[in-house]
Amino acid sequence: MINKKFSLAALTLAVAAASCTMNKSNEAQEFNYNVDRFADIEILRYKVTDFDSLTLNDKKLVYYLTEAALNGRDILTDQNGKYNLTIRTLFEQIYTKYDGDKNDKDFKALETYLKQIWFANGIHHHYSTDKFTPGFSEEFFKAQVAKLPVEELPLAEGQTVEQLVETLTPVIFDPTFMAKRVNQADGQDLIQTSANNYYADITQAEVEAFYNAMKKPGDETPISYGLNSRLVKKDGKVVEEVYKVGGRYTQAIEKIVENLTKALEFVQNDTQKAHVEKLIEFYNTGDLKTFDEYSILWVEDVVSTVDFINGFIESYGDPLGYKGAYESIVNFKNLKASHRTEVISQNAQWFEDNSPVDPRFKKEKVKGVTAKVITAAILAGDAYPSTPIGINLPNANWVRAAHGSKSVTLENITEAYDQAAHGNGFNEEFVIDKETSDLMDKYLFIVDNMHTDLHECLGHASGKLLPGVHDDALKEHGATLEEARADLFALYYLAGPKILELGLLDNPDAYKAEYYKYILNGMMTQLMRIELGKDVEEAHMRNRQLISKWAYEHGKADNVIEFIKRDGKTFIQINDYAKLRDLFGQLLFEIQRIKSEGDYEAGKKLVETYGVKVDQDLHKEVLDRYAKLNIAPYKGFVNPVYVPEFDNEGNITDVKLDYTEGYVEQMLRYSKDYSPLTK
Ligand code: ZN
Repeated sequence: MINKKFSLAALTLAVAAASCTMNKSNEAQEFNYNVDRFADIEILRYKVTDFDSLTLNDKKLVYYLTEAALNGRDILTDQNGKYNLTIRTLFEQIYTKYDGDKNDKDFKALETYLKQIWFANGIHHHYSTDKFTPGFSEEFFKAQVAKLPVEELPLAEGQTVEQLVETLTPVIFDPTFMAKRVNQADGQDLIQTSANNYYADITQAEVEAFYNAMKKPGDETPISYGLNSRLVKKDGKVVEEVYKVGGRYTQAIEKIVENLTKALEFVQNDTQKAHVEKLIEFYNTGDLKTFDEYSILWVEDVVSTVDFINGFIESYGDPLGYKGAYESIVNFKNLKASHRTEVISQNAQWFEDNSPVDPRFKKEKVKGVTAKVITAAILAGDAYPSTPIGINLPNANWVRAAHGSKSVTLENITEAYDQAAHGNGFNEEFVIDKETSDLMDKYLFIVDNMHTDLHECLGHASGKLLPGVHDDALKEHGATLEEARADLFALYYLAGPKILELGLLDNPDAYKAEYYKYILNGMMTQLMRIELGKDVEEAHMRNRQLISKWAYEHGKADNVIEFIKRDGKTFIQINDYAKLRDLFGQLLFEIQRIKSEGDYEAGKKLVETYGVKVDQDLHKEVLDRYAKLNIAPYKGFVNPVYVPEFDNEGNITDVKLDYTEGYVEQMLRYSKDYSPLTK
C-alpha cells in the first residue's frame, strides 16, 4: 500500500519532513532538478543526500541492492502488455539509428511517443491506463522499420519483418485495440478487455473460479493468491506461470538474485541477513508462503538503517487485484530529519502543557509519535520514473494486523518536487510580493515539513475528550475538525520561541513562509483542484478553508489579512503575522472545546460557515490563472548513476554518485545494461 499522493502544485504538497540546514537555496543553484518536459510529463532529478557519509560497507550494500532493483525493469514492462518490450526495443532502434532531419514533425512525434513509453513502462498511460495516441504516421513508422538491419529487429522466432509490422500496426495505431491497460468498467469481462499481460486466453469467470477454488475457508493467514504469476489457458487447462528462477522471467530474476546474494556480504546485521536470505529463497521457489515469511522478517527489521523493497508488490495493474507489479526502492534513514521528529516527540509534554486550550481538555500524559524519514537511493519498476512520496507496507492484511507495517516518507523526493517548483511561475502569479516569495523559496520546504511533523507527531495526539463524550460525536464533520485541530496546533507552535530554542529553526521569521502559504492556499489556490460550481468537499481542504476564512473574518477589525486587487488580479496580503498567530490560538481553543465536549452543533456551524462555500468569481479567476502557468500534471524522476571504484583485486573501494545523466541517456542505458528479457 503506497500512498500515491501526487499534487498539482508544490505549494500544496503534503510533505513530512526536512533537514534543518539553511543552505538549501545555495545547493539548489549547483544541482539541476529539472531534466526534461514532454506531453503531460515533467522529469526531475533527486539528490541522494548524505550518501557520501555512509560507511563503505553501507555504500556497497546500497550499490548491490540498486543493481538488483534495476535488473527487474523489463519484468514490469512485460507485465504491462505483451508487446511492450518488442515495441520499446523497436522504437529505440528507430530512434538511435535515425539519420534524417531531427526537426521533422514525424520524428519529433516519435521521440515523444518513445519518451511516453519509457515513462509508462509500456504503451498505456501510467495513470489513466489509456493507450497513447502516436503523433506520427503509419507510413513514417513503416519506412523507418524498413531502413533497419533485419538482424537488429526484435523478431520472434520464425517471424518475418512484414509479420512484425503487421502485428504491431494495430497495437500502435488502432485506438480501439488494446485500448486500456486496466479496464474497470462495470458489466464487461475485465480480464478480456484489459490489455495488461497478467493473463492470456482466459475469461474473468475462469480466473475467479481458479482462485476461489484455491482459497481455504477459515484460513486466517491466507497467502496472496496469484501475486507472482501469469495465469493462462493452455490446451484447455488453466495454469499459473510462476515468476521465479527457472520459471517466467527467469533471466531477470536470476540477475536480481545474483545481486541480492552479493548484497548479503554487506548486510548490517543478522536481522537484515535473515530477510534478504528469505527473499532470495522466495525468488528461487516462487512459494508465496515464503513471501509472507519474508514480509514478516522485513517488517520486524526496525534496526537496519539501509532498507529496501524488491518484489511483486502493488496490484493496481490487475483489475481483479491478484497480480503484483515488479517494484523496488532502495533507501537509507535520514538521520537529520529523523532527529527532528525525535526532538519534537521528546518535548510532547511541554507542547501539551503550554498549548492555548482550556486546561480541562489537556492530556496529563501525552506521548508523541515519531515519524520515519528516509532517503531514496534508487527507484525501479513500478516506482520509476513516477514515484510515491510515502510507503506503507506490507500489503497482506493479516501480516499488518499481527506484525504491523512500516510507514516512511521519502524526503529527498519531496525536496526535489519542492525545488523543481521554484521558477515554475506559481509564486510570481499568486504571491503578493518578492519579499514574501523569497522567504517562501528559502524556508517553505523546511517549515512545511515541520508543520507536517507537528501536525502528525503532536497535533493529532494532543487533547482529551471529557468523560462520556464519544469519539464520533462530531459525525460527518469529525474529520474536518480533527484536521483543523492538528493544523492549528502546528501553526501555533511553528511561530513560537520553543522551535528556535530546540534548534529546529534558526530564523524567527521563517514561520511566515508557512503562514502565507497556508492562507493563500486555504483562501485561493487550493480551488484549482475543484471544478467550477462545486463546493469544497474533501476534509483536508475544508479544514484549510475553514481556518483561513475564520482568521480572515475575525481579523477584519485589525486588518490582519487583506485582499488586494492589482491589474484585475486578486492577491492575499498578511499585515500582522503576530495577530494571525493569536487568531490561530483562539480557534484552536474553540475547536478543542468542540471536540472535547462533543459539541456537534457548534462544529457543524463552523464547517458550514467557513469550510464549504466558494466565491464563484474568485474560483474562476484562480482556475484561469493556474491554467496559464502550464504546469505538467505528472512528474517523475531519473535516478543518479552509482559508479563503483575498484582496486587491483576487483574489490570495491568506493561508490561515487553521478547526477549528470539525462532522461533519454538513462533510458537507453537501462535498455542496454539492465534488459535481461530482451537479449
Ligand atoms: Zn492529519
